[in-house]
Amino acid sequence: MRDHYLREAFFDGLSVIDVDEMLQRIAEHTTVKGEWDTGVISPSLVATECRLARLKIFLGDDPQPGLKHMAVRGGRPDPITHLNFLRGFLGEGMVVTALKTAMGEGRIFGNAPTLVFKWRYRGDDIQLSMWNQGMVFAGHPDMLVFSDDNEMEIVQIKTPSIFKFERLQRLGDEDALKSYRPQMATEMYIGRKLGYPIRRSHLMMVSWEGTPKIDDPHCRIVTLPWHDSLTTIPEQVAREIVQDYDRAYTMSLWPEPYPEHRSSTFPCSYCRFARLGNFSTIACTEQQEWERHAETGLTRITTPLPEEDDPKIVPIRRRRRSA
Ligand code: SF4
Repeated sequence: MRDHYLREAFFDGLSVIDVDEMLQRIAEHTTVKGEWDTGVISPSLVATECRLARLKIFLGDDPQPGLKHMAVRGGRPDPITHLNFLRGFLGEGMVVTALKTAMGEGRIFGNAPTLVFKWRYRGDDIQLSMWNQGMVFAGHPDMLVFSDDNEMEIVQIKTPSIFKFERLQRLGDEDALKSYRPQMATEMYIGRKLGYPIRRSHLMMVSWEGTPKIDDPHCRIVTLPWHDSLTTIPEQVAREIVQDYDRAYTMSLWPEPYPEHRSSTFPCSYCRFARLGNFSTIACTEQQEWERHAETGLTRITTPLPEEDDPKIVPIRRRRRSA
């Protein structure tokens, strides 16, 4: 079914361009280094449900103190997350290339990873204006394009697994928007604040898994039109970040984590941080370990154990005897 200009352009692009050129363009797309900031309200931060995870990401906490690794889950490098990232980046490169080829550069205002939206808050909200002379909102929309009617629109590319894709087909647009609305709203919000007349955002979901032998490849478009009420989504999260930050640093009260018994269910099971700590992993609640690492480069895991004959270590038996 070809009832959307983006789907049509995607299939046309795949027909026009051949495999070797596509691979070359995907390689170029995926090797350009994007610019990612911490201390900003980004679309993915707004989409993060857990307030503790949100604050830690905002502060720039690594998944474990000092662990610089992107494909991480539960505080550890994770092969499944790695494959998901690869699928996402390669799929994005493929869709961007196909759309640019079919639509022509003239209809593409910009695309990831070089398209960056960044805006410092200017408005009536006292919390957001006072934060560092204005809270910064920043994002990397996948594509900013002109529609057939010459209206400005964002294209948000997702390459879910075939299982998720089929689930979204079954449950319909509202189910897809439930997960992606915060991200789509935040991208439109920042772009519009920068002065771009963005009218809507399209979630373009593509899966090359389970590609049928006949019929078109899997591609579904879900559209979220701009409405002023969407402003509340990013601004509310930004206010919560300010409140959580103030509570954490004035009263040492960090946002409540999810209960330990839920560590193996969403969102903890998908989180880059570990809900539970042990001898080799630092839990998301051990904030002092991130602070200690920032100051000394050490954590409770990397600190060497004291020497056995260290006079500060008094064996329990000796202590009992001298009591
Ligand atoms: S592990 Fe769970 S509680 Fe901890 S930061 Fe992640 S989502 Fe929040």
